[in-house]
Amino acid sequence: MAKVTKHIFVTGGVVSSLGKGLTSAAIALLLERRGYRVRLQKMDPYLNVDPGTMSPFQHGEVYVTEDGAETDLDLGHYERFTGIPCTRASNFTTGRIYSAVISREREGGYLGKTVQVIPHVTDEIKKAIRALDADDVDVVITEVGGTAGDIESLPFLEAIRQYRQEIGRDNGLFIHITLVPYIKAAGEMKTKPSQQSVGILRTIGIVPDILICRCEQPMSEEHKDKLALFCNVDRELVIDEPDVKNSIYEVPLDLARQDLDVYILEKLAMHVNGLDLKRWKAMVKTLIAPRKGEVEIAVVGKYISLRDSYKSIYEALTHGGIANNCRVKVRMVESEEVQDKGAAKLLAGVSGILVPGGFGDRGIEGMLGTVHYARTKGIPYFGICLGMQCAVIEFARNVCKLKGANSTEFDRATAAPVIDLMESQKQVRGMGGTMRLGSYPCHIAAGTLASKAYGASRIQERHRHRFEFNNAYRDKLKAKGMRLSGICPDGELVEMVELPKHPWFLGCQFHPEFQSTPLKAHPLFRSFVAAALRKRKR
Ligand code: GLN
Repeated sequence: MAKVTKHIFVTGGVVSSLGKGLTSAAIALLLERRGYRVRLQKMDPYLNVDPGTMSPFQHGEVYVTEDGAETDLDLGHYERFTGIPCTRASNFTTGRIYSAVISREREGGYLGKTVQVIPHVTDEIKKAIRALDADDVDVVITEVGGTAGDIESLPFLEAIRQYRQEIGRDNGLFIHITLVPYIKAAGEMKTKPSQQSVGILRTIGIVPDILICRCEQPMSEEHKDKLALFCNVDRELVIDEPDVKNSIYEVPLDLARQDLDVYILEKLAMHVNGLDLKRWKAMVKTLIAPRKGEVEIAVVGKYISLRDSYKSIYEALTHGGIANNCRVKVRMVESEEVQDKGAAKLLAGVSGILVPGGFGDRGIEGMLGTVHYARTKGIPYFGICLGMQCAVIEFARNVCKLKGANSTEFDRATAAPVIDLMESQKQVRGMGGTMRLGSYPCHIAAGTLASKAYGASRIQERHRHRFEFNNAYRDKLKAKGMRLSGICPDGELVEMVELPKHPWFLGCQFHPEFQSTPLKAHPLFRSFVAAALRKRKR
């Protein structure tokens, strides 16, 4: 008999931001640690084809996959928890589904038919789910974004209802993640919103098999009994997921304690292999009680007010801390404020400074002030994408004395365009999916900070940018002491710069944060946090 891939469908109830992505990733980890091969996927009900054109303030970080898709930040959780690489097939939006259906209609693919949400749109969604079925995949977890009751998620819910109907109960499972709020004035937890949310699902033919209740405190037996009764869910399948005390990486451990993974496997008629969480537990232990105390690192960005904008950066710093047995405390600094108040005032006392990626000229002068401060005060500096470009501009202006040096992104008429539009971008017209995206190789020069950190001479890193180091300025910057330590294999693009005279100063055009995991910190983050620790001791 051909092997069947099992499916888990995760929906959300009552409110958004319940951490569905995180919970899905935690479930994937548990199944993986029981020896199963898992894939994860997110369905986003909005009309953008992908989140690439949305403001970070709207959507948070855009997570870039190895194959160059601009995706939802939940995919970052998927990769960090499981180490399973996500691809273009790991994130679908309503916009992407509809554009496929509409293109097919224009090509005559539905000739003679009226094209409708059911079955044509739902078929397209089911195709996207089926795309992850493979001989080497045991379980696919599909997370449906949004909240039960939203108009826009209806086609997705209908599609997963049909899907499970087609594959049968032993092969498909519905998990509903819902909120059980604590009402302070009454001193009570309330199950009613969850009952109503399950009611909404039932009206469209979905009966959740498992309820995962997000709550501030663990739920009482009585509340669990009540939910089981009203929601028609087996009592042991009402699981609570209270807010974690220290770290999101505790979530899988909390869920495992309630045997969630065992119930899932039983429901899916799969063998319950042993669970090996040894490395994960050791990692969480280090994270909670690191031996070397705390080190403070500033992240100076332009989207600071929304924590999700730099999700992977903050996570990668945490990983760098775990690898160095210390806790990284992040000081979040808005670059526009550096512009107004000065770097010294806002950055005093930190042991490391990171400037992350970004677009557009708001706050750039604050970033340049930040680079100047880090460079002249010998504070470890890590510039990522825009942060590298700022490092180059600052060096050109203040060390090479190239007056008004800038990126043509911010000043088209600059006399010294040290950062300029990539050749490959000059003909590009549209905005969506047109940047240099995805994983590219890079050569590292021997004897550099980068080569020491990576312990390798050829690496692969993910990109998302339009502008680049302008090769016309290579010699001028090198002559004044900037080392070009990472170059792409054809020699055309500068991917990393360093200042060898500085204790730790590195800029990279790519996004190392996307490849960092708690069990394996990215080498640059590990090395940067180590440098910050050395700085702290001085
Ligand atoms: N805005 C810059 C570019 O397009 C940097 C992009 C980024 O930081 N991701 O090249």
